[in-house]
Amino acid sequence: MVPGARLIVLGKQGAGKGTQCVRLSHHYVIPHISTGDMLRGAVKMQTPLGVEAKRFMDEGELVPDELLLGLVDERLAQDDTIGRGFVLDGFPRTVKQAEALDRLLAPLELDTVLDLEVPRDLVLARLASRRVCVDCGTNYSTSTPPKVDWICDVCGGEVVQRPDDTEAAIKRRLDLYDTETAPLVQWYAASGRLAAVDGTGTPDDVTERLVRTIDEHRQPRPTSRGTGA
Ligand code: ADP
Ligand code: ZN
Repeated sequence: MVPGARLIVLGKQGAGKGTQCVRLSHHYVIPHISTGDMLRGAVKMQTPLGVEAKRFMDEGELVPDELLLGLVDERLAQDDTIGRGFVLDGFPRTVKQAEALDRLLAPLELDTVLDLEVPRDLVLARLASRRVCVDCGTNYSTSTPPKVDWICDVCGGEVVQRPDDTEAAIKRRLDLYDTETAPLVQWYAASGRLAAVDGTGTPDDVTERLVRTIDEHRQPRPTSRGTGA
């Protein structure tokens, strides 16, 4: 397996994007860039951006592009993403963000845009039982808790319910998915970049489907800059 890929994973809240993106980042040796995690990091550090973004996040609203795009731009300009690529999780989620991303990446192009398809009633059940580590963002659920008393298996952080996993904020996020992100799925499909993947079944089943789909689309590339290929 040659490392490196430029991937986007789209899918409703609770479709399993976070879990699958971590696995893809290990498989292809690429950074996992989650705008939700980056924003939660800024909130936790109480940076000016974090303080501003929190109001939107707690309500389930989208954080305005003026706040978000600079953060994404800065992350995409780092050596690891330039050299090996990335798997983007939670960005873009509007057509406007996707157009901005194309401009940021040019002349490079995406390998594959994956749409993780999961029915709405399944994601609602998953979100209600979802718990996350406040420090590293690892996902758990009430049926698959950490080994010890809501302490993260990965980093020892506290595992809690997200402040925006309330019924009202979940509903708002799913509605925004329908109005803002569903058109984006169509937009990528229209330019021939979209690959739909069934997101139901076990996490291993889904990873296997994703890897198979990505490998069908991915361009071969050198292992790192300057080694040639
Ligand atoms: P979810 O997919 O369940 O909404 P995320 O962790 O991806 O969870 O995002 C949490 C929140 O962070 C969103 O509800 C939104 O407020 C903000 N956010 C994340 N990514 C974006 C984005 N691309 N554009 C605008 N806001 C975003
Ligand atoms: Zn953790």
